[in-house]
Amino acid sequence: MRESALLVGRTLAAVAEYIRPGVSTLALDDIAETFIRDHGAVPGFKGYGDFPNTLCASKNAQVVHGIPNHDELLDGDILSLDCGVLMNGFYGDSAYTFAIGEVSNEIKKLLKVTKECLDLALAQCVVGKRIGDIGYACQSHAEAHGFGVVRELVGHGLGKELHEAPEVPNYGRRGNGARLSEGMVLAVEPMINLGKKEVVQSEDGWTIVTVDGRPSAHFEHDVVVRKGHCEVLSSFAPIEEVLKESTEIS
Ligand code: MG
Ligand code: MG
Repeated sequence: MRESALLVGRTLAAVAEYIRPGVSTLALDDIAETFIRDHGAVPGFKGYGDFPNTLCASKNAQVVHGIPNHDELLDGDILSLDCGVLMNGFYGDSAYTFAIGEVSNEIKKLLKVTKECLDLALAQCVVGKRIGDIGYACQSHAEAHGFGVVRELVGHGLGKELHEAPEVPNYGRRGNGARLSEGMVLAVEPMINLGKKEVVQSEDGWTIVTVDGRPSAHFEHDVVVRKGHCEVLSSFAPIEEVLKESTEIS
């Protein structure tokens, strides 16, 4: 599972090299699929419930499950790329939200706070805590900044199936829900809206968008519940290495 999770991060890093204004999400999808297959894995999302592509590419007010298309990315957009792979019988599933060119200060804050929500949620993924502790950590941080926490979509268990029990909501009450046990593998994935929490499904049957049309951010890691700590299987390090290099060049 670690190998699968790490391959997702390396795939998103390979894609990140090409993320800039003028590029289409379909071009990015192509890069991701080739990279995954070149590394002995298969895309985890393509064909899953008839989803047509390797990446879920969700721009601005799109929260998750966006279908890659020919539209060009614009300066000031944000883009959540969610990627899954299946390798050696196990899934990896991780997501990162990218700023395209220069984004507004409020969007920078949304990205920063959403990532902090993920870190705070992960800190709860230890033996003896409960599912509600994870959600509470995420929700309280997001709402302290005035952001909306999406209710309709949640994190999940991960393994031989892409979505396993238990559900891992990004909202909750401390001490509530199932108790976390040693070795549980969870995909934790805050979806945080700049404005209201409400979302709706688009006519394409996939894309989830905010009702108020304001932007939404999404970060996802795969973790193992351990005694006294959370073992993170996926990694943003390769992605952030690429982002750092591209900032240095420009
Ligand atoms: Mg995902
Ligand atoms: Mg997931």
